[in-house]
Amino acid sequence: MMSIGEGVVYMLIALLGLLIGSFLNVVVHRVPRHESILYPASHCPQCGHGLRPWENIPVLSWIWLRGRCHDCGSPIVWRYPVLELLTAVLSVVVVWRLGFSGTLLPALALTWILLALTMIDLETHLLPDRITKPGILFGLLLNGSALFWPGVALTSPADALLGVFLGYGSLWVLAVAYYRMSGRDGMGGGDLKLLGMVGAWLGWQAVFLTLFIAALGGGMVAVTYLLRGKGRDYAMPFGPYLALGAWLMLLWPQAILSGYLHLLGT
Ligand SMILES: [Zn+2]
Repeated sequence: MMSIGEGVVYMLIALLGLLIGSFLNVVVHRVPRHESILYPASHCPQCGHGLRPWENIPVLSWIWLRGRCHDCGSPIVWRYPVLELLTAVLSVVVVWRLGFSGTLLPALALTWILLALTMIDLETHLLPDRITKPGILFGLLLNGSALFWPGVALTSPADALLGVFLGYGSLWVLAVAYYRMSGRDGMGGGDLKLLGMVGAWLGWQAVFLTLFIAALGGGMVAVTYLLRGKGRDYAMPFGPYLALGAWLMLLWPQAILSGYLHLLGT
């Protein structure tokens, strides 16, 4: 049974998640367009009018405005309320799982980065360098901090460094092999950097299982598409599956590892 105090804390985390989700919407919209995420203030991309405070409230404004711009009436994509709600829910799950430990803030940050990348990949089939490259750097700095001050690192500095090379390298090998066999590019360079980023944050051990979960999830979706007779050439973004795998490895590494070993029959 949850105490009132705990309930209040989770409410506050959910509110924080809604606000972060609102910011992530700006990131998802602007980064692929090479726009600044700080300037100008939020505005309608169609008519350009600046959002009034009451038009900028997560989820509620979207419902209030019935998904349309107040001034020009052009539709506001569903991604806005969905990403805000998703960020709130996943942030609450991270706090519920990790509690108020030193690794909470890094875990939340990684969750938010993965959410932004997932949405961008779904919309544009791209994973922008502007997020993955600093993401790799931040992961290395975060885990490098363990050399001076343990407590916030998610893995050891050596495991993180190895994770970058293994994450990037393993997909590079797969991509080259696929290209040799099919003569087509199967994976974008963004996928390689994303898995390198996962390695930087969670260590090389997590790279394998992230890839395993992503292949499992992506493979099942691919099979469904083939069974429904949709084209083989349907370009499926792999980033969301990598992001999901990484997020599950962030929160349930032991359960996933034993599940994996169980599948292998050991
Ligand atoms: Zn408008």
